[in-house]
Amino acid sequence: MKKLENKSVFITDGLSGIGKACAIAAAKEGANVAVADLKSSDLVRAMEEIKKENPKAIFIECDVSSFTAVKSAIETVVKTFGTLDIALNNAGIGGDANRVGEMSEEAWLKVIGVNLNGVFNCMHHELEYMLTKKSGSIINMSSILGKVGFALSSHYVAAKHGVIGLTQAAALEYATDGIRVNAISPGFIETPLLVKGGISDKPEVKQFVISKHPIGRFGTSEEIAAGFIFLASSDSSFITGTALEIDGGYLAQ
Ligand code: NAP
Repeated sequence: MKKLENKSVFITDGLSGIGKACAIAAAKEGANVAVADLKSSDLVRAMEEIKKENPKAIFIECDVSSFTAVKSAIETVVKTFGTLDIALNNAGIGGDANRVGEMSEEAWLKVIGVNLNGVFNCMHHELEYMLTKKSGSIINMSSILGKVGFALSSHYVAAKHGVIGLTQAAALEYATDGIRVNAISPGFIETPLLVKGGISDKPEVKQFVISKHPIGRFGTSEEIAAGFIFLASSDSSFITGTALEIDGGYLAQ
């Protein structure tokens, strides 16, 4: 028996990296997947990969930092699949590296706008709908940097800490409404985000970051997708308000 048979799943940023791996894993488990992302050159190839597992998958163009764009995306999911059962609020950006005193207001607002406000925008509309049927599972993508600091990334660190707080507050608010809300805190995962952040293409930086993971390597998107399927499915039916660490031991030190 597949774990998400006929479930309707909404995933933000599902065209690359972790989001795409989660979309493929959910489709493999029988889910109807709606991928919301900015339009990109990856669109056709990524959707082909997801549709190979379940041809019903759809793409919705959506900037998660826009409250109204997210509202309309959720309406499209419900109209297309008849319901919304599971949401992975995953979209996130890295942003410029700077100390707080040298960080521009623009750089700060951009990261907070996507990584924290974007998660609120999604949760607001998802919860509004899920409450009408009193069931649902929401998973928010935080980070190990939602639990500890990291120099030159205060916007990212603050947003990811905020995502865990938002997850815990909402988990308490909806615990008796049949809706579970959890987060995932990945360690460093080899995705395009690490290339954009100048981590995986500079050998000394890459080695330094890998050395912070006791397991001795970066994680893979598929390892995060396994955690997502667990939190999305009834295998985790007594879990709400948690931030699952999938980090090769980073936070155990
Ligand atoms: P990724 O491969 O770079 O994917 C990020 C995606 O988000 C891209 O498709 C990007 O589109 C999209 N995006 C950017 N702004 C958006 C917006 N406003 N609305 C909708 N989509 C938007 O990143 P990833 O590594 O898979 O990261 C996924 C999530 O995991 C993020 O929340 C990230 O913070 C978190 N995470 C990643 C790591 C890691 O080491 N990779 C570790 C911990 C947590 P464009 O390509 O067009 O910009």
